[in-house]
Amino acid sequence: MKKYTGNPVSSGIALGKALVYLDNNTSEVPRYSIQKDQLDSEWSRYLSANGAAIEELKALNVRAKRDMNKEHSAIFEAHLMMLEDTEFQGQIKGRLETSLQNIEWIIKNISHEMSAMLMASPDPYLRERAVDIVDVLHRVINKLLHAQRVSLADLSEDVILVCRELLPSDALAMNKARVKAIVTDLGGATSHTAILARAFGIPAIVGLSSASKEIKTGDMLIVNGVSGELVVNPEESVQTEAKHKRKHYYKRLGELQKLRALPAETRDGYRVSLKANIEVPEEAEAALGTGCEGIGLYRSEFLFLSAGRPTDEEEQIKAYSQVLKVMGNLPVTLRTADVGGDKLLPELQLSDERNPILGWRAIRVSLSQPELFKTQLRAMLRAGVSGNLRIMFPMISGIEELEQALAVLEEVKSELRKQRKAFAEAVPVGTMIEIPSAALTADILAEKSNFFSIGTNDLVQYTIAVDRGNEKVSYLAQPFHPAILRSLKQIIDAAHEKGITAAMCGEMAGDTSFTALLLGLGLDEFSMNALAIPRIRRVIQSVTKESCGRLAKNALRCTSYHDVGRLVEDWMLSELGTNYKAI
Ligand code: PEP
Ligand code: MG
Repeated sequence: MKKYTGNPVSSGIALGKALVYLDNNTSEVPRYSIQKDQLDSEWSRYLSANGAAIEELKALNVRAKRDMNKEHSAIFEAHLMMLEDTEFQGQIKGRLETSLQNIEWIIKNISHEMSAMLMASPDPYLRERAVDIVDVLHRVINKLLHAQRVSLADLSEDVILVCRELLPSDALAMNKARVKAIVTDLGGATSHTAILARAFGIPAIVGLSSASKEIKTGDMLIVNGVSGELVVNPEESVQTEAKHKRKHYYKRLGELQKLRALPAETRDGYRVSLKANIEVPEEAEAALGTGCEGIGLYRSEFLFLSAGRPTDEEEQIKAYSQVLKVMGNLPVTLRTADVGGDKLLPELQLSDERNPILGWRAIRVSLSQPELFKTQLRAMLRAGVSGNLRIMFPMISGIEELEQALAVLEEVKSELRKQRKAFAEAVPVGTMIEIPSAALTADILAEKSNFFSIGTNDLVQYTIAVDRGNEKVSYLAQPFHPAILRSLKQIIDAAHEKGITAAMCGEMAGDTSFTALLLGLGLDEFSMNALAIPRIRRVIQSVTKESCGRLAKNALRCTSYHDVGRLVEDWMLSELGTNYKAI
């Protein structure tokens, strides 16, 4: 039995068998020297991995033939020929004997050399074969590393996914019903994979450093997404205790769920609005079940990420209308695409930037790709006839960008009018405040916005200069930092002075440790992953606005995030007799 502790980013408790998942591009191949007397055993490792890869390819080929997929079948046959080629095997053996390095390292090098040679060829056919070489040899490497190369969409058994990093596109594609938990070496609490895990209600722990190298497929795991503890191959008694905790956790969640009909109102009558963040249209139904009062953030870029390309107008209308119809009269805030950063869309070639987080992302992409942007706005406005639509722009850095985006929106409306298409005319338009320059000019942006929505995931990232996906610096991502509190106060006050709503859709809004402070600062609307709504509602109902106001005032006087954290913790214990992190 071995224990690890990481960053719990999606609550829940799960027990199950590990599936170590390496993506196709994994470059983490270990390198070590071997002795002459280890040559035989190293060669047998190769033969058995090669044999397993051949069996896998044969099975895939049978399936491709059954599905009459000639193209796939031809690829599998070419791959099989290569792995069965005795001359090629001899080449690998020769290299093993002369270099005395581990076999996966040798295969990786051969794969690099062969693909580089093919890539240099003037013949396009040969250049295309470079990909095949890398692909087929990685299949063997993955076998050697005990990782199964599986399609996450085809999972047919319950698994706990163990990986170095799970890409948002993998998380979208996986068979969610079969993934009981996710554990990753990399990642922070506000990385988009963590956000997706919460959206799908899958317990997750990130930032486990080297777990994916040490855990083997088939190991028994206990994942505690509340405490961040991961146990590998637990004893019987530890499993029994975990099952008990799991039962208790889900019973408590069910009890909180029963509060859904009650208003989100403090004991002294201060009413706020609780909304849901969603990433895929199918989530809307479940969100409604938690008693949310609308969608505060629909991350439309996931529509593009699932398709692997920007979808066309009709496809978008279908997705947006689905959400708007489910929500009826309740407001639905569609955010224009926030691609870039950790949400790369290959078709737009966003992967070659040195600093993607500070680069071509969100509204910057939209404004420089007017056709893409206009298509999205047309789809949103046209879908708007099905419900209560609001539109919101991500990553606005200043008034120029907001004005440009608003001008495009007006242009699209006028085109729709000319074309006599039905669309929603009077749509409130909001600005996301998630860049320090926007926070500092919130009073200016408020003049042209119908509402604000504070994106604390990015606001914390950019204010403290801490990459939200990098576990090495995640200790610095502290929403209690005095700089963040001052920033939030400035944004909320600026909104109220101009008479507009101050909403929040960053992860901070769904974390019970911050609820009292945010109420005290005067936040009007909290938007979060739907599963968090019952817990946040419970906190709001237990406190008074007056006392939260005093807490916020005192917190703003603190000089460090440690002090703010302690202040809030003490306040909770004295006011409520409990620590709300425990809910
Ligand atoms: C945020 O930055 O807080 C936010 C809600 O947007 P995203 O997480 O999609 O960047
Ligand atoms: Mg953001």
